[in-house]
Amino acid sequence: MDIKSMTKNELAEIIAQNRDNPSGELLGAARAERDKNYGKKIFVRGLIEFTNYCKNDCYYCGIRRGNKNAHRYRLTREQISDCCAEGHRLGFNTYVLQGGEDGCFTDKIMCDIIYDIKEKYPECAVTLSIGEKSRESYKAYKDAGADRYLLRHETADNNHYGRLHPPCMSLENRKNCLYTLRELGYQVGAGFMTGSPYQTNETLAEDLLFLKELEPHMVGIGPFIPQHDTPFADERGGTLNLTLTMLALVRLMLPKTLLPSTTALGTIDPNGREKGFDAGANVVMPNLSPVGVRKDYALYDNKICTGD
Ligand code: SAH
Repeated sequence: MDIKSMTKNELAEIIAQNRDNPSGELLGAARAERDKNYGKKIFVRGLIEFTNYCKNDCYYCGIRRGNKNAHRYRLTREQISDCCAEGHRLGFNTYVLQGGEDGCFTDKIMCDIIYDIKEKYPECAVTLSIGEKSRESYKAYKDAGADRYLLRHETADNNHYGRLHPPCMSLENRKNCLYTLRELGYQVGAGFMTGSPYQTNETLAEDLLFLKELEPHMVGIGPFIPQHDTPFADERGGTLNLTLTMLALVRLMLPKTLLPSTTALGTIDPNGREKGFDAGANVVMPNLSPVGVRKDYALYDNKICTGD
């Protein structure tokens, strides 16, 4: 199975064949590729969800601006620092600061936060996941010490992108952000949801081709899960099997990429994250956010690990 040289139609065909029941051949090939490049090692990244305020209105996301029922919170610098201390105690060496696009966290404040963490834990990597910003902002964070940036492209198909986001957002800008981040020297993560509304085998094939071109260090893939206060409340969610299929195909397309087995995958199946590892994943991102706010970072319904 030479995924890397396949055309869009051939990729769409492989996706169609595997999406409801990924073959042992596909999953085995993905595992072998992961083992060849990384062995059995699983990488741990501590996730700190530091704000759920967001100026965007993505149709799938529970913390979209238009969700008046969301209970909003922001962590203080001190709380963020406490989360890092807990991560350090647990032996984590990467902190992922994720949040909505929250204007209260100005570039100056973000840089101070990054600087604080790097000063205390110089051997740790700081990863940001705070959406679309200007080149100047990305540069400022980098200069303050940020190492990595996660920005899922969400879908590489223009028309599909338009059905998931309001007209003021564009795939072009999202992609430009990813290229800018890479140019600035960040290790970059892209990714997408499986089973998002209007997704097809062809749009998924487009995702694979875009990833092949971008060659990100990480690819975040998890099932779309409806959130009850969003326009997509009554849509169907993504499945375990489709997610495993896409994890395996991305592993074969980009053998050296880091592939998280996501919380969303663990949410739709009690053994979802373990099954993700069996499909070639090799990263897990435990939640370091204060237990009191975890239920409020409600991108989707029934999220796991909100208490432990
Ligand atoms: N504001 C940041 C972080 C977004 S949240 C940014 O723009 O990158 C991180 C990811 O959660 C999103 O990129 C999206 O792919 C995923 N997500 C959002 N809503 C979801 C839902 N209902 N089900 C599953 N994943 C979702």
